[in-house]
Amino acid sequence: MCGALRASDAGKKAVLMGWVNRRRDLGSIIFIDLRDRTGVTQVVVNRELNPSAHDKAEQLRNEYVIAVIGTVKQRDRDTVNKNIPTGEVELIIEELRLLNESKSPPFLPGEAILPNEEMRLKYRYIDLRRDAMQFNIELRHKVSKAIRDDLSAQGFFEIETPFMTRSTPEGARDYLVPSRVQPGSFYALPQSPQMFKQILMISGFDRYFQIVRCFRDEDFRADRQAEFTQIDLEMTYPQTDTVWGVVEGFLTAAFKAAAGQEIKAPFPRMSYDEAIKRYGNDKPDMRLPAMVDVRAALMPEELDELAGKFRMRKEFPLQLIRIPKAGEISGTERRTIGTYGAFQHVQGPSFVQLMTDPKRFAKDYPAPSEKVQAFAKIEPDDLWLLAGAANHPEKAAVMDQRVQHFCEKCGFLRLDLAQKYASRHKAFEKTGDPAKDFRFLWVSDFPMFEWDNAEKRWNPAHHPFTTLHEEDMAKLEANIDSVHDPKSPLGEIRALAYDVVLNGTELGSGSIRIHRQDIQKKIFQALGMSDDEARARFGFFLEALEYGTPPHGGIALGLDRIVMILAGAESLREVIPFPKTARAVDLMVDAPTPVSEAQLKELGIAIRKAQE
Ligand code: ASP
Repeated sequence: MCGALRASDAGKKAVLMGWVNRRRDLGSIIFIDLRDRTGVTQVVVNRELNPSAHDKAEQLRNEYVIAVIGTVKQRDRDTVNKNIPTGEVELIIEELRLLNESKSPPFLPGEAILPNEEMRLKYRYIDLRRDAMQFNIELRHKVSKAIRDDLSAQGFFEIETPFMTRSTPEGARDYLVPSRVQPGSFYALPQSPQMFKQILMISGFDRYFQIVRCFRDEDFRADRQAEFTQIDLEMTYPQTDTVWGVVEGFLTAAFKAAAGQEIKAPFPRMSYDEAIKRYGNDKPDMRLPAMVDVRAALMPEELDELAGKFRMRKEFPLQLIRIPKAGEISGTERRTIGTYGAFQHVQGPSFVQLMTDPKRFAKDYPAPSEKVQAFAKIEPDDLWLLAGAANHPEKAAVMDQRVQHFCEKCGFLRLDLAQKYASRHKAFEKTGDPAKDFRFLWVSDFPMFEWDNAEKRWNPAHHPFTTLHEEDMAKLEANIDSVHDPKSPLGEIRALAYDVVLNGTELGSGSIRIHRQDIQKKIFQALGMSDDEARARFGFFLEALEYGTPPHGGIALGLDRIVMILAGAESLREVIPFPKTARAVDLMVDAPTPVSEAQLKELGIAIRKAQE
């Protein structure tokens, strides 16, 4: 291979095949950098020694494919190229064969400057020849292999499930495949193998996994792919801990094998409630400190005074947000921080009251200032501010009064500030740092249902096969017919659902499942689904649940995202060989496309005009 030869090979004969990465014609001598997946070797063609090879070499252009036979020669000391592993040798050509020509490519794989992404996606085969892409695809292979090996060693079988199937309720739209044999009927591509993996548990395969493609038709979202890959698994008789241990095992193995990164397990754990309260977010970025409710540091009269002065609700947390080592913040910057408009998520009714100038705060309120700083362990280089819930009676009506929403706003502010100011300190750099700071976390006990404001109804927060905390059962039963009531206590029910989070990104979600048909029915009822409707959509599944279903649970993690993080890439498209654009278009094959009238007829399909 073109990356193999070393000084110790000097004197040996070698055959290399690859692409012409670059050709330098010095007249009687032509240098060719010959490239394949493994690297580049300098090949030398000398007119005097080998006139016929030299003639051929004169015709070579970038990306031509050639084979060369020659003798390995150690380079003179002053011509050694320290930048490449083969830099101590060159191959002196005896024979050169042109295997194929190439049109002049729209961009060169060896060039540092990248063309725009459309060009890269259209000519993906050229783009994939680039070092960075070769690295990413190899990394992807290593990650999947490490995961397969580890899960196999943990007793999991990889089992395939169908692509042409029925709808799976993961909250997105389905991609449909029309049936020719039964015109008017459609398969749905799976949004996940959820029901199949549960049926595998009923079928006696106690530990299943699959590195599997999932298909979700979602509206335009920047970093999503219409088809993406999950590491999907399911097991019988688990506690949440059991599932977590399995995941920690394969993630540790993958990070080690693929990137030499040692990660520490078990990962820290946190309930959803705690995550919201302390981080204002259900996927906390643990590289930044939590928010601190500093009310505990103050005397009641101090709190009263602040609440009065800042028109702030003292029964809500007074959150101290701290960005460590942000450095000196100029007066102008501080004023920007002080205006809500600077932070997109905190716009609108001034729900959050900010005290952004610690110096002024210290002057006006010396004792409280000192106390809260000590309480939150503020250091000299830190950026910090206080956020409280505004006490504006005229706004109270339009604001959601819940503490959760206040905390979420603070959480957005924390992240906005971090993005702006924490990048000044290394630990928060998102990419490109080999000594990456990987902070994993389990978040558990998510709400079972979430309110959908557009549809004015409660939806499953995870999916409808997730089980709830046993002690919340009575609450479910008492509110089973309140799917359209935004104030329904359904919102308080906790699920045995969990997410694994890395540096503020959700890597995967899972849950302990419902294994009893009567409970599954209740969940469907709470979701406003009639018996008939449930039977029509999931009849096969409800029936399977009646045949001795063991307790089971599982999880699915996004493979693309894991590889993206390990590669230090900014987009999923950098780690997927043939990705689609944000509008779900494949620019290389040009899909989707209209199909012929004959094909449509065969399928019994007529295309409606837009206005219809
Ligand atoms: N099927 C779920 C998903 O795709 C994961 C799981 O619950 O195992 O998010």
